[in-house]
Amino acid sequence: MLVFPKPHSDGYNFIYNLPVSLILHCMKKYFAGALFSILASMTIYAQDTVPHVQGKVTISVKNGTIECDLILSNMPRLSDYYIRLNSGMNIRYIKNAEEGMSPLKYERSLQDTLSYGESLAYYIPAFNKSGKYLPHAIHFNYVGMYPVITDTTSVVDWRGNIAFNGTTLRADGIQSAWCPILYDVKTDTRYEKVTYDLDVTCNDCKVIYVNGSPPVSGTRALVKSATSQDLTMFAGDFKSVSINGNYFLNPDADDQQLAELEKTLHSYQVYLEKKTDIPYKGKAVYIQTTPVSKYNSWLFASYPTIVKVGWDEGMKSFLSKSNGSGFMQYMAHELAHYYFGTFRDFNSELGDMITEGFAEFLALHITRAYISDSLYLEELQSKAGEMRNFNPKPIAKISSKSDYGDRELYVYYYAPLIFSAIEKEIGEEKMWEWIKVLLQSPAVFTNYQFLEQTLNKVMNDEAGFESLCEKYFRSESAFQNAASTLNLLADEPSYDVDEKPVAKTYYYFFFSGPYRDAGSSQNRVIKHTDILQITCTPDELSNMARSVFKRLNDECENDAGCTSDFNTFDSMEKAQAALQRWLGRYGKNVTMLEKILEP
Ligand SMILES: [Zn+2]
Repeated sequence: MLVFPKPHSDGYNFIYNLPVSLILHCMKKYFAGALFSILASMTIYAQDTVPHVQGKVTISVKNGTIECDLILSNMPRLSDYYIRLNSGMNIRYIKNAEEGMSPLKYERSLQDTLSYGESLAYYIPAFNKSGKYLPHAIHFNYVGMYPVITDTTSVVDWRGNIAFNGTTLRADGIQSAWCPILYDVKTDTRYEKVTYDLDVTCNDCKVIYVNGSPPVSGTRALVKSATSQDLTMFAGDFKSVSINGNYFLNPDADDQQLAELEKTLHSYQVYLEKKTDIPYKGKAVYIQTTPVSKYNSWLFASYPTIVKVGWDEGMKSFLSKSNGSGFMQYMAHELAHYYFGTFRDFNSELGDMITEGFAEFLALHITRAYISDSLYLEELQSKAGEMRNFNPKPIAKISSKSDYGDRELYVYYYAPLIFSAIEKEIGEEKMWEWIKVLLQSPAVFTNYQFLEQTLNKVMNDEAGFESLCEKYFRSESAFQNAASTLNLLADEPSYDVDEKPVAKTYYYFFFSGPYRDAGSSQNRVIKHTDILQITCTPDELSNMARSVFKRLNDECENDAGCTSDFNTFDSMEKAQAALQRWLGRYGKNVTMLEKILEP
């Protein structure tokens, strides 16, 4: 078992709520080879114009403050836009950056809501067609103060959180929007990748790091980047270790161990570079840090930065016998985000699936090439197993992100299985060609038409293409088709439908407690049955349970509501031990009122 969480927090948790139409530049049909040499010579980014950020940032990791005086210039000329800024930032003023201008009136829009609500959407109202005015350069002056949490008392931590853990500040460059991010409403394009020229001061820091620049030791960093980067930032009191030009910030491993890890990670990069013909730009910076909550842990990538957040082992994890290969698979996934996420951004309703699905698909490739074939097969089988109770909508029928049903299963399990099956059908070579085209074909929206058209180009076989789309993109049985292509067990029904249900003896108890705020005067009632025994069929068992659930619900005595659980065991001893465990869940400091529920 892997102790690392599924990499579900590293995604781009934005709501895509736009009408989608495809503007895909038509490309003439070349022979595949000719097409790729042309594509390889073009650098195509989703964003045409790269904004520039210049100014001063003052941080205190002890006080939890960030003060910014920044000018955003070289912006694309958008008519319908928002500027996202973290909701904890208080604006002193927004001005046209030209000399001597007065503060501008600004409005907040409620139309643009990020799924986790970290940022607010601002615009400058105008008396024109779009109702919005965008100066060529905008001067922002604002200050934010955040809780410094040294004792994990925060209920949750996540990628977009601006986190002060007592010794460091961690802020990602996309979701947190600690620096204003321009967003084009019409094309669903974020402009978080910027060139920058920043003067960062942090008097209680030892190292200051801004994405894409080497970490700076000291309390002041003058950092510049002429290539576009998102502004992921990590600053505070930690060690910075450089190995072959790559950096490890706040590592728990010693230099020799880090050198070994760096060698392996570098080999993954070389593998992906060779396959895609796209070199990594910039040396990697691997960060390890702790969250401000007790239970959250995750990894995320904003290449060249890869961050591991958690209380368990950090970079040292690769040495662990039981978790080492799992850790390396996650690192492979994050390194693959250089292609799917940094080199190219994918938008529209399928953007999240393409980004995560292909990062995971490439991580599977690396697993097969560098870890072991058997682990690769095990991973595929385990993904298929996780899909057991999930009935995914065909990719062709996804019209909004909510159609994923279960996002995690859809993007990390279903999508890589579909891609792996397609690879098996068209062969590895064509699959890499498809990946190159996905990464480099110009398109405003990377939606379903984009997926189809890129695959069609690579296959250059109309009939074969049609049948593949039918089988894996349009069919309601796409998952079963993929599982059968990959020789995986797609479904293991627990009993044969023709078989008569068998009566069995169950030892069981019902348990109900406060849904929230357990131990407070309004929420302290626990109700449970004694251990009871019944011999019946599974259907009879669930009928009986349903009526008890109803009673527990109707007779709930906690203001925040009641949980209700039904636990069955095959022996009296197991059931008794479990009940003691359940009762022991409430801490010693909490007084609960225990009531026995009569059946
Ligand atoms: Zn990911």
